[in-house]
Amino acid sequence: MTRVTDKALGMKADITRREFVQGSAVALGASLAPGLVADNPSGNRLSDGEMPLFDYPPTKTGLRGAHAGAYEVAHALARDGARFPNPDVLDEHYDCVVVGAGISGLAAAHYYQQQFGAEARILLLENHDDFGGHAKRNEFHQSGKMVLSLGGTHNLEWWSFSDRVKHFMSEHGVDTVAMRDQMTFQYGRSAPNSPAMWFDRETYGEDRLLPQFNLSRKLTSEAIERIPISRAGRDTLKRFYSSVPMLFSDKTEAEIEALLSGISYPDFLRQYGGLTEDAVQLFAKEEHGSWGLEMRAISATEALWEGYPGAHLFSDEGWQEDAVGYPVAMWPDGNASLVRLMVARLMPHVAPDVHADNVAIASFDYGALDDPGAAVRLRLNATVVGIENTDAGVTVDYVKAGRVLRVRSRHAVLACYHSIIPHLCPTLDEAQKEALRYQVKTPMLLTNVLIRNSRALDKLGVDAISCPGRLHARLFLFRGINTGGYEYSEDDEGAVSLVFWGSISPPEDAYDLKSQLRGSREKMLALTFEDFEREVRTVLHGLLGPEGFDVTEDILAITVNRWPHGYAYEYMQLWDPQWAPGEAPHEIARKSFGAIAIANSDAGASAYTHVAIDEAHRAISDLVYGG
Ligand SMILES: Cc1cc2nc3c(=O)[nH]c(=O)nc-3n(C[C@H](O)[C@H](O)[C@H](O)COP(=O)(O)OP(=O)(O)OC[C@H]3O[C@@H](n4cnc5c(N)ncnc54)[C@H](O)[C@@H]3O)c2cc1C
Repeated sequence: MTRVTDKALGMKADITRREFVQGSAVALGASLAPGLVADNPSGNRLSDGEMPLFDYPPTKTGLRGAHAGAYEVAHALARDGARFPNPDVLDEHYDCVVVGAGISGLAAAHYYQQQFGAEARILLLENHDDFGGHAKRNEFHQSGKMVLSLGGTHNLEWWSFSDRVKHFMSEHGVDTVAMRDQMTFQYGRSAPNSPAMWFDRETYGEDRLLPQFNLSRKLTSEAIERIPISRAGRDTLKRFYSSVPMLFSDKTEAEIEALLSGISYPDFLRQYGGLTEDAVQLFAKEEHGSWGLEMRAISATEALWEGYPGAHLFSDEGWQEDAVGYPVAMWPDGNASLVRLMVARLMPHVAPDVHADNVAIASFDYGALDDPGAAVRLRLNATVVGIENTDAGVTVDYVKAGRVLRVRSRHAVLACYHSIIPHLCPTLDEAQKEALRYQVKTPMLLTNVLIRNSRALDKLGVDAISCPGRLHARLFLFRGINTGGYEYSEDDEGAVSLVFWGSISPPEDAYDLKSQLRGSREKMLALTFEDFEREVRTVLHGLLGPEGFDVTEDILAITVNRWPHGYAYEYMQLWDPQWAPGEAPHEIARKSFGAIAIANSDAGASAYTHVAIDEAHRAISDLVYGG
């Protein structure tokens, strides 16, 4: 195992430039009057200005997502049992306080206005320094050009939209059909040698890139021969991929289904595919990005359904062709643009004249989010620590800048993670608390590395690479998408974002799913920015160094979006029973109580934007009709 020194990786050399990149971004962002869009004749070029620097959250680099200052109060409350007595009672009375300014919280504010009138006074409290929850915008500026990338929630899965969500989208000017027409991005399937798999020196003894390599498609013996694992491992892979249907001929379909849904995919590969351990390991992190889970948490049925190989062992349906073509609708900053449209509608003074055609390039006035004169206010860096029903409505206690403060309201909507609600509302009944605790979120990771240009990747002819031995299991080049007013060109020679994504492998001895999720979360929170930085530099040095990429010079900025509480908990075949209607934990967890209703994608046990919106609507209906 050979490690590259920090000096060779440029760990120290780059700090000045990193600060410069960020500083110039802030200056440029500030040069726009709120709501004005960037002067954008070509490539999102902003006009220079003389405005002072200020903190513009989307441009912050370093450790983001759960950033320092965002989670400490919540952890003190939930993990250490801290109490926050004697709040200063503010002279603020609202119709509704919404906890959490993610998609669900903002949608709840929207539906509350529709139900109770545009003049209803609403306060959104959010513990991060930016709004949007997982739907986070990463905004870089380099040489006067704005480069957008995904900080969390990527895209709209429009085919699953309810009629309500479709209507919500049209109310916000979102045309998913038009967006799809502009969707050129294919998660790194556009380059001739993509997808590829990269084997790294530290794990596999040598750096080796295998172009046009996809474990889900039928691999040839020649391709398998190039995988740097044991001879026995390669031989078992060859047998596995070339097998003809032999298995389960004595079983009924129902028996096969029962067997496959009761065994993990890696166990299936071992027991029925005959693979050695080092061959099985190639698959271990393949679903870190999409599911946020280690393969051992996923049943064989679920994996086969996702297109992983194995069905050919017992059925003659044949191998699928590489399915290119992502039908999703997407903005260049992911669903952060949807969030911005919601904020612009709820608080027009924050982003005047912002609409679907310019939302991606507009500048928002963060200083006006908490305007005392506005019907809707959004207060950042405010962690809610307690909510209680009273005779007159609710009291909501939160911590901001070290002070414990209280506001009063007629209603409240909890659009935050469900697992914290028992700590916010200690008087809830035990059954509901238990149901809320059931929902352990999936840790997710999205690290944007702004690189000087894509030349080295272009030489290799790849734009998406799996890295089975590394911390981030996958990376893809994100040149941009021409939606929301953003413009990019395939021919652009300039800075571009390389997205490293996935999750963190849980400790080996974490067996059940929730132990895996919690173990992964702890490991994620223990990693420093330097750990992530060293990791991406090591990967880029080994992968792109031979093509002329200089890690000491060509990395311009790094933004680590860590989401220790990422996807909503979704029920999995190996770990969760089949619940009778109305008895699933999320259905019990989301019941309203008194003047308090519960939203968030957790309430639908489904990690999607449209679910977050539907659940917001249900929460407001609960306030009106009881839930
Ligand atoms: C990396 C990643 C990629 C994803 N990609 C997609 C995708 O492509 N498509 C898709 O549909 N979905 C995707 N999702 C799922 C995503 O979770 C949902 O789409 C949606 O953004 C969830 O919105 P939400 O409002 O329910 O929750 P959140 O976005 O989590 O918002 C809840 C907010 O409440 C805040 N909060 C929590 N506790 C408190 C407190 N005590 N006080 C104040 N505030 C609090 C949180 O910090 C957070 O900001 C992705 C998620 C992740 C993490």
